[in-house]
Amino acid sequence: MKRIDELTAALGSIPCETNPRLVAQRSRDFYWYSPVLKRQLDGVTGDIVISPRSEAEVVDVLAACYRLDIPVTPRGGGTGNYGQAMPLSGGAVLDLRNMSRISGIEAGVVSADAGAIIHDIDRAAQAHSGQELRMHPSTARNATIGGFIAGGSGGVGSIRWGTLRDLGNVISARVVTMEASPRILALTGYDLHKVIHAYGTNGIITSLELPLTAAYDWIDTLVTHDSWLRLNQFADVLARQDGLLLKQLCTIEAPTPHRYFLKHQKYLAPGDHVIVAMVAHHAVSAFEALCRQERMKIAFRSDILPESEKRVLPPAYELAWNHTTLRAIRLDPSITYLQTLYPNPVHVEKIAAMSALFGEEVPGHAEYMRFEGRVSCDGMPLVRFSTEERLDEIVRIHEEHGCPVFNPHRYTLEEGGMKQTDEVQLAFKRMVDPKGLLNPGKMIAWDNPDYDFNAPGYYLFPGIKKDGSFRDEIPSLD
Ligand code: FAD
Repeated sequence: MKRIDELTAALGSIPCETNPRLVAQRSRDFYWYSPVLKRQLDGVTGDIVISPRSEAEVVDVLAACYRLDIPVTPRGGGTGNYGQAMPLSGGAVLDLRNMSRISGIEAGVVSADAGAIIHDIDRAAQAHSGQELRMHPSTARNATIGGFIAGGSGGVGSIRWGTLRDLGNVISARVVTMEASPRILALTGYDLHKVIHAYGTNGIITSLELPLTAAYDWIDTLVTHDSWLRLNQFADVLARQDGLLLKQLCTIEAPTPHRYFLKHQKYLAPGDHVIVAMVAHHAVSAFEALCRQERMKIAFRSDILPESEKRVLPPAYELAWNHTTLRAIRLDPSITYLQTLYPNPVHVEKIAAMSALFGEEVPGHAEYMRFEGRVSCDGMPLVRFSTEERLDEIVRIHEEHGCPVFNPHRYTLEEGGMKQTDEVQLAFKRMVDPKGLLNPGKMIAWDNPDYDFNAPGYYLFPGIKKDGSFRDEIPSLD
């Protein structure tokens, strides 16, 4: 505690909070989605929350924490659900939300501080020039842009633009290092992958440049069918219509939609499997034509509702991604979920196979997205939790059936499975965080010198090769 007193003194006028109840509140995220993480992390808390207002203050905080050997865990909106933002070794929680400046908007590009709320960036870009971010998590109304880049993977918009792993979806990042005299690095290109989805273990992101796209009047729709396989076959056809502009496309198996989407319940029947799609207003007639041809029912369209009804409904994207899980857990706390990949070209087949195998124990949910230019599905099936052993078995069965799992019941980068660590990233961490004070306990490769980077596994964010890239070279035709 003496070190925390020394730290408080060193911080001067930088806002901080040491009330244990408030610090405990800001030391949590949505880890409780997982009964396993809930058991493991319930008691985790920091000692102090520090809320810098500028990059210069971040530099001062990190220099002081480095000198006093105090761990620092960065935090945005605290909506991560892998326990990413939880300070396993106590110390300082660095709350970035005071850094919310949107500093520039031009054709195709926005610059914002890491603590800006994603929805605020979209609102500003729309008001400025009819633009919006290419993608956002379904938590856009609470999540920060820095938290999304450091802890998220993709989301609403990924059906068009792919995910955060794709080159071009982040333009540049400014990152402060954790050293005696912290440096500011400007990362671009493949170097961005040292901080994208690294849970803040490789530096504190202070600002970002991101690509913008044209903003449209998006029409929320729910399409229903009584066959889960048929609905997914249709969603796949929809996903591949290059001319039909969608921002969101997912399928959710019955009984989830009718049972848990309370505000939309009156539009649905208990046996309805549902597509949640956001369609550009100018694409609605084409969308309708395809639905009619394939005998799919459009059960809900936001554009034909009276204003009074529209106002009380959440946006369609808050029925999708991990909001589906949230709505189910709120009504039935015994529910948890998995995060898996149904890989192209067998994604539809795998979705149907997993549902047939597990039935009501694992109701399906597939987010359609572009993955290396092809349509694949991020699976977010609900799981009716019984025991941790059974949960592990469900994971194993998915993997045995060719559906890699990004296990949301593990809090490390490697086991959570999205991020492959490697020599390049470890070398970068040695350079930017030589004492290992940034979000300790989240990177196995740092804590375990015998860690085998090449152990088999599937990662959404693959390791970085010696040449700095993460892709194989394009084969020569010679
Ligand atoms: P936090 O949870 O505060 O932090 C996330 C991680 O980033 C932590 O490891 C933290 O230490 C680190 N971090 C935060 N700020 C910085 C910084 N400035 N520099 C370095 N590291 C930093 N995720 C998706 O990808 N897509 C979705 O559609 C999606 N939907 C969700 C729906 C629900 C209901 C929930 C609960 C979660 C969802 N998530 C989703 C996960 C999460 O909401 C997102 O990843 C979100 O973008 C995290 O932002 P945040 O500001 O809340 O970050």
